[in-house]
Amino acid sequence: MEKNIFEQIRDGDAKSDIVYKDEYVTAFHDIDPSAPIHILIIPNKKIETLNDITEEDSIYLSKILISAKNIAKQFKIDNTGYRLITNCNKDGGQEIEYLHFHLVGGVRLGKMISLPKDSKKILKKILESNN
Ligand code: AMP
Repeated sequence: MEKNIFEQIRDGDAKSDIVYKDEYVTAFHDIDPSAPIHILIIPNKKIETLNDITEEDSIYLSKILISAKNIAKQFKIDNTGYRLITNCNKDGGQEIEYLHFHLVGGVRLGKMISLPKDSKKILKKILESNN
């Protein structure tokens, strides 16, 4: 099967601006940054979405968090602050089917998400369908 872009970057088959790599994770600059600092961190094991993680993946997930902290320090945004985001599937805005975390910072970030006006109604429906 054809490798997607993040598999290609992980394997060195596609050009990227890598800021950190070890046995477990690869981190590189986002090609279309949403903030002065926008780095993507991926596990070296291909996991498609957050829904697909298992207990065995714990080491990858903890290494992602540790590398995010270290990269934030490397880019001198550890004290000013930053955000670590992962998008899951369509509603989450995930475009690339390879689990990745966006490390963004270097500027005062806005509100985390903007809610649609009918959010309360939607939540009520979700809760009702769970009963
Ligand atoms: P998401 O919407 O959460 O799936 O995020 C995908 C991200 O990957 C977007 O922010 C894109 O700008 C970024 N992206 C896509 N192609 C590349 C690439 N070749 N190198 C670096 N970042 C990329």
